[in-house]
Amino acid sequence: MNGIFSDRITDVPRSFIREILKVTVDESIISFAGGLPNRDLFPVNEIKRATNKVLDLFGADVLQYSASEGFLGLREWIAQRYKTRKNIDVDPDDILITAGSQQGLDLLGKTILNDGDDVVMEEPGYLGAIQAFSLYKPTFHPIPLETDGVDIQKFEQAVRNHNIKLFYCVPNFHNPAGISYTLEKRNAIADIVRGTNTIIIEDDPYGELRFLGSEQPSFYKLIPENTVLLGSFSKIVVPSFRIGWIVARKEVMEKLIIAKQASDLHTNYFGQRIIHQLLTDYPIDDHIQTIRKAYGIQRDAMVEAIEEYFPKDIEYTKPEGGMFLWVTLPEGVSAVEVFNEAIARKVAFVPGDPFYINKKGVNTLRLNFSCTNEDTTRLGIQRLGEVITSRIG
Ligand code: PMP
Repeated sequence: MNGIFSDRITDVPRSFIREILKVTVDESIISFAGGLPNRDLFPVNEIKRATNKVLDLFGADVLQYSASEGFLGLREWIAQRYKTRKNIDVDPDDILITAGSQQGLDLLGKTILNDGDDVVMEEPGYLGAIQAFSLYKPTFHPIPLETDGVDIQKFEQAVRNHNIKLFYCVPNFHNPAGISYTLEKRNAIADIVRGTNTIIIEDDPYGELRFLGSEQPSFYKLIPENTVLLGSFSKIVVPSFRIGWIVARKEVMEKLIIAKQASDLHTNYFGQRIIHQLLTDYPIDDHIQTIRKAYGIQRDAMVEAIEEYFPKDIEYTKPEGGMFLWVTLPEGVSAVEVFNEAIARKVAFVPGDPFYINKKGVNTLRLNFSCTNEDTTRLGIQRLGEVITSRIG
C-alpha cells in the first residue's frame, strides 16, 4: 500500500483537538477543552414539532434532491436577517447554503487556492481553517493577533509585499482568542485591502452571541467587493444539522456552486426545511437572547474565578461574546506541559499549539466557558490556578 495517498492529505495532521477531546470523555474531568454550544439550550421540542410539520405539510417534497444553491426560502430568511439586524443588502442569490461554515472554508480553498498561493492567517487562528486551507498547500503568512485585531503594520506589509489571495479572519468573538476587532482596525484593514485582489474571508459563526459591548460593522458592509462572509446555524440553533452559508458576489458564487456540486450536490435538504420551519414558527431572537444570557453568566463566573485563583501576572482576554477566553502564561512556560499536569488534577483545556502554524510549546491556552455552569467553572479554574501557580513558582 505504499504511495497510495495524495501529498495533499499526507501532509495535513489529524485535528489535535479531536485527540484531546478523547482524554476528556472521563466524566470526572472538568473540561474547558471542548468548543461545543451548550446542549441544555438546544430547542429539542421545537425541532420535533418543526420536523413533523414539514412532513405533514410538504411530505415527499422535502425528501427529494434539491437545488445546489440551497432552499430559496432559507436563503431569503438569511438575507432578510442581514437587512434587519445589520442593515446589509444581500441578494438571496448571493447566498450558498453549505454543510456548516466548515464546508464553506473547504469550498473557498478549492475555488481560490493554487499550490503556494499566499494566504494571511491570524496567529493564533481557527484550527479548522488552518486544516481546511492546508489541503490546498498555500504559503501561510501568520500575522499576530492583538486584543483589537491583527497587527496592522504586519498586515499591511504582507499585503504590499505579496500577492495575498485570502485573508482569513474571525472578527467577532474569536476562536480561539476571544477578542473582537475594533472599528478602527476594521477600517484600517478595509483601507489596506481596497483596490487589491485580496479576498477577506470573514468567518462569523459567533456574531449573534454578544453579551457585552456594541456591535461593529461587518467587513461585508465596509468593503463588500473584497469580502466573502460565512455564517452558520450551529451556534444559534444546533450544530448537528450541519447547515451554514457563504455570502459572495456573483463571479465568486458561480465558481463556488461548481465546487459545491462536485462535493455533495447540495446541503441536506430535509435539514434546511426543518430549520426554515423552525425559524418561521418560533421567535429565534428570544432563543438567541437565552443563549447570550447563559453564556454571559458563565463567562463572568470564569473571569471572576481567574481573578481569584490565577497568579496576578497571567494575562487573559475578556470576551464580549462567543464561547472562548485565551490565556497567556509567562514566557517560556509550555501550555502542553501544564495540560499534562492539569489532566492529573482532573481539569482540561486546549494548549495553544494547534492554533499556530509551525509553532510548538507555546505559552498560550484556550478555555471554553459555554458548557460548564458557574460552580463547576469555579472549581475547574481553582484547580487550574493551583497547577499554574505550582508550575511557575
Ligand atoms: N469557524 C469558526 C471560527 C468556528 O469556531 C467553527 C466551529 N467550531 C466553524 C467555523 C465551523 O462551524 P460549522 O458548525 O458552521 O461548520
